[in-house]
Amino acid sequence: MKIMKFGGTSVGKPERMHQVSQLITKDAEPTIVVLSALSGTTNALVGLSDLLGKSDKSGATQHIETLEKHYRTFILDLLKSDTLRAKANSIIDEHFEFLKITQRISLSDALNRDILAQGELMSTKLFSLYLEQENIDHALIPALEFMRLDANEEPDLGAIKEKIATVLAAHPTKKLFITQGYICRNAKGEVDNLKRGGSDYTASLIAAAVNASVCEIWTDIDGMHNNDPRVVDKTMAIEQLSFDEAAELAYFGAKILHPTCIWPAQQENVPVKLLNTMQPSAAGTVIKKEAGTVGVKAVAAKDGIIAVKIKSSRMLLAYGFLRKIFEVFEKYKTPIDMITTSEVAVSVTIDNDEHLTEIINELSNFASIEVEKDQTIVSIVGNEIAKTDSILKKLFEAINEVPVTMVSYGGSPHNISLLLPSAYKTKTLQLVNKGLFNL
Ligand code: ADP
Ligand code: ASP
Ligand code: MG
Repeated sequence: MKIMKFGGTSVGKPERMHQVSQLITKDAEPTIVVLSALSGTTNALVGLSDLLGKSDKSGATQHIETLEKHYRTFILDLLKSDTLRAKANSIIDEHFEFLKITQRISLSDALNRDILAQGELMSTKLFSLYLEQENIDHALIPALEFMRLDANEEPDLGAIKEKIATVLAAHPTKKLFITQGYICRNAKGEVDNLKRGGSDYTASLIAAAVNASVCEIWTDIDGMHNNDPRVVDKTMAIEQLSFDEAAELAYFGAKILHPTCIWPAQQENVPVKLLNTMQPSAAGTVIKKEAGTVGVKAVAAKDGIIAVKIKSSRMLLAYGFLRKIFEVFEKYKTPIDMITTSEVAVSVTIDNDEHLTEIINELSNFASIEVEKDQTIVSIVGNEIAKTDSILKKLFEAINEVPVTMVSYGGSPHNISLLLPSAYKTKTLQLVNKGLFNL
């Protein structure tokens, strides 16, 4: 079994759905195809819940109308026969009636998550009609029947394994399965999701659940590049990454992959390939156990970071000071990304300020606190980078003019992380491109 995931731009136009249909029928291996919503749809649904949250009824009506028009036009290009167009229109009717009803009921978290699920539900149903038109035999399998979160809101791989086996067994003659990325049910049985960009995570979880031969992530670029192509001009695709390197790049901001999507594939040792729907013959990037080469491979940046500087109220760091600090962050389920310590102070970074006030209040009981917002983590990722020839010298020479506020080195053999004010992000990525990659 192989898994092929197609992102928003890969299904965002009728002609792209045509390309996808060709790619998924190229070889005979049984395949599970994971689709995102059409590009722009999830953003539009997030926009809709914002309007509903502000009780802006006329804004919401207009918003829904614009999106509905997009789908009505989309199916005219996608489907040729009146019968299939009628089927598509009734699918659109059903989902937009639901969206219209949301204007009349008060917005709860659960309703909000139901709204966000509509994109993937529609894209997969419309794609299934397109396959019907092209006489491509397949089964549409609902992700809500097998994608599960546990009570800690983490994917429940055991439950997913069990449930997907049952769903697949119900279609013994099929070789091609279509399902939704991103959406799932939580421990309470409600509709939930795997957070923005979560279709990659779905693909990797399914790949682990069925022990797939490969998990292919098809997108709009020919693999993981050495730097963020949205920020710097010249970047190049990386041939091979280890699971650890890819996980660090994803977590530290390489948008091509969902931040935590690598672990399921890594756990079952399923290789992940990053491929380009618009240029299928490009080699892309393969992610597997082995790193391939030693040395620096890429740099990524993660915005929206908050630095919390914690200075012990006593003169010297007492035994247990770090534990006390970590317990506060643990209590508020706020993960720490970077940490540096000196004799009397500890600085940590977080990317989630939901409980920042409570965290500061509790830390203030035994330390003085300073908070700096609008920070960016820039991570240099590679294999055994500490062993790379004069890596620190090269790096700090390259970014000499950047006011770096924290450095993390030695925690991982794959990563050197720097914290800097977000205003310096573009400059830093450009300087690293020149200094470490000669681009
Ligand atoms: P999809 O909709 O297919 O999931 P995404 O937009 O989530 O696609 O991810 C692909 C985009 O990630 C690319 O278009 C590119 O702009 C961006 N990106 C950011 N950093 C990198 C990187 N290091 N390598 C490749 N792409 C990157
Ligand atoms: N449609 C969802 C999003 O835009 C999930 C995904 O595309 O991966 O975030
Ligand atoms: Mg994505």
